[in-house]
Amino acid sequence: NREWHLLSRPVGWPKADDFALVETEVPTPGEGQVLVRNKYLSVDPYMRGRMSAAKSYAAPFELGKVMQGGAVGEVIASNAEGIEVGDHVLHFFGWREYAAVDAKTAVKVDAQAAPLSTYLGVLGMTGLTAYAGLLRVGSFKEGDAVFVSGAAGAVGGQVGQIAKLKGASRVIGSAGSDEKVKLLVEEYGFDAAFNYKNGPVWEQLTEAAPDGIDVYFDNVGGEHLEAAIGALNLKGRAVVCGMISQYNSTEPTPGPRNMVKILQNRLRVEGILVGDHYDLQQQFVSEVGPWVASGQLKYRETVVEGIENNLEAFLGVLRGDNTGKMIVKL
Ligand code: NDP
Repeated sequence: NREWHLLSRPVGWPKADDFALVETEVPTPGEGQVLVRNKYLSVDPYMRGRMSAAKSYAAPFELGKVMQGGAVGEVIASNAEGIEVGDHVLHFFGWREYAAVDAKTAVKVDAQAAPLSTYLGVLGMTGLTAYAGLLRVGSFKEGDAVFVSGAAGAVGGQVGQIAKLKGASRVIGSAGSDEKVKLLVEEYGFDAAFNYKNGPVWEQLTEAAPDGIDVYFDNVGGEHLEAAIGALNLKGRAVVCGMISQYNSTEPTPGPRNMVKILQNRLRVEGILVGDHYDLQQQFVSEVGPWVASGQLKYRETVVEGIENNLEAFLGVLRGDNTGKMIVKL
């Protein structure tokens, strides 16, 4: 079994020597556990937060120990009722090839119903984040104009498409390359999109949304959040899902300079944590699953192969190498 350990807490951009790929014995499953051979591992921006010691919504990874993350794999031994050898399960012991998992924390997934990797993305955690963030936290309603940043990523691409499918008057996205912008407009059906590296966000946003926006779904923070606060119409909502532009910052980053707009336009700015919204999981899968199956909702995955490339895949997400969900295939 090979698994990735965190050796030291990164300062700024994580470096290769903050981590080590370590060879260990394949674990023996205890009573009530199953042994899983992982097939797909998730790498996600929030993992950067867990590499730091600072208090957040998820506990820091422990130094000298294997890291964690979403994973889907095949059960190869079972000491638990209800899960058989050959079943596939979603669980939380990624960054490794083999995992002994408490059966009560593993969720069986159907390899026939959808590709296994989708349980980490479009039908999984990032999908639910998009769904709950837009519909529940963002109080999206038909006719709203929606702006989403990180729009060619896993969460963002789904936010924009769900908004379109549910009758948004206009959907605007931003992303970090012209190729991603093209994908948003030509394949995902966004009404407008721009490359935030091509010019100030405020200028590009006001051009793309001349009548303002009603919901901003923030994956990025910083300049994007300030521009969006400026563009939100009366009673607009900003859903703060992520601030990836700041995850490697070593100093506190300045906030939006136009907070008075929150008062003037009676805006609501609210954070979302996907873990608070698992009560919507069934509703999410029954509504979004058929859209994915029929191709009405499109998704991309960027697949990196091999446990040895798990770290590079994670760094790739922070750099923007991915289009759609970044997945490691073992
Ligand atoms: P993505 O698939 O969107 O990958 C991250 C993307 O962020 C990259 O592809 C890159 O795309 C973009 N990015 C990187 N640096 C910057 C920057 N400085 N400015 C603007 N964009 C940048 O990841 P996810 O869909 O998994 O996550 C998206 C966001 O949602 C993250 O902020 C994440 O932390 C958050 N999240 C929050 C959850 C919650 O419960 N609150 C749950 C899941 C995710 P580009 O080429 O466009 O720059």
